[in-house]
Amino acid sequence: MDYQKIIQDVYEKVQPFAKTGKQADYIPALAKVNPDQSGVCLKTLDLQQYSVGESKVRFSIQSISKVFSLAVALSCEGKNLWQRMGKEPSGNAFNSLVQLELEHGIPRNPFINAGAIVVADVLLSHLANPEEEFIDFVRNISESETVNYNFSVARSERSNGYLNAAIANLLKYHGNIKNDIEHVLQFYFLMCSIEMNCTELSNAFLRFADHRKEFNYCNVHLTSSQVKRINAIMQTCGFYDESGEFSYLVGLPGKSGVGGGICAIYPQRYAVTVFSPRLNAKGNSVVGMKFLELLTTETKESIF
Ligand code: GLN
Repeated sequence: MDYQKIIQDVYEKVQPFAKTGKQADYIPALAKVNPDQSGVCLKTLDLQQYSVGESKVRFSIQSISKVFSLAVALSCEGKNLWQRMGKEPSGNAFNSLVQLELEHGIPRNPFINAGAIVVADVLLSHLANPEEEFIDFVRNISESETVNYNFSVARSERSNGYLNAAIANLLKYHGNIKNDIEHVLQFYFLMCSIEMNCTELSNAFLRFADHRKEFNYCNVHLTSSQVKRINAIMQTCGFYDESGEFSYLVGLPGKSGVGGGICAIYPQRYAVTVFSPRLNAKGNSVVGMKFLELLTTETKESIF
């Protein structure tokens, strides 16, 4: 498969969509990002790497971090984690409060905000130095020592984070947050604020694509079955209330973030990351969705 040619062709084909949508502006620091950037990096299991556009420009990974925090939480808690959240698609927006109230503080899954806030609480309970240990793990799997948090993005999100604060309070009321709410929220926003480029994200997601290999990075140890199941949750819950649509159009497990990134994996074959900040109404990158739809159409490769 000539992936370089295919991703270049598909990159050209998605350019007419480049002006559709707008970047996340509910996080003040992200409203300032240049929306006219885009990049792609596809990396195969045999370590061939193919890139187009601004694949080395770092951006805010936002909810893509929820895959990394889930990996750490599963390594710490194993299946006990599922007493505190489900693994069903929510069918609701990533920051919805309604379902959480009806379901008595048990989030539907770890990839909506409520679930990821519980995951942040789990990490705070288990890790001696959560901030350092989490970033060390992300640096290790992305093969980049310079990946870091953006503290001003995290502060900017906290200053406007009324909805996430409401979610955290509801969780605490139902006994599903053990630590101090403010600490949990700050750690959650900090994980979202990590900045990475397409190449670094594809390196990291390749670990999940390679689920038959042992997953041992820093102090995070997962069995191949656990990695396979993280991929299953990406497939069913990775795009909030657009997860069915992504599965239908693209046919790969993946995870998006409101910074405009989307990572997807073809198990045992490749990891691919697309970045373009303009989002659709569900909070997913317009160009990212279209690019991946065309990629799996042109290659005739998907998990189906
Ligand atoms: N930090 C963002 C939030 O909590 C992440 C949302 C996202 O990327 N979908 O709202």
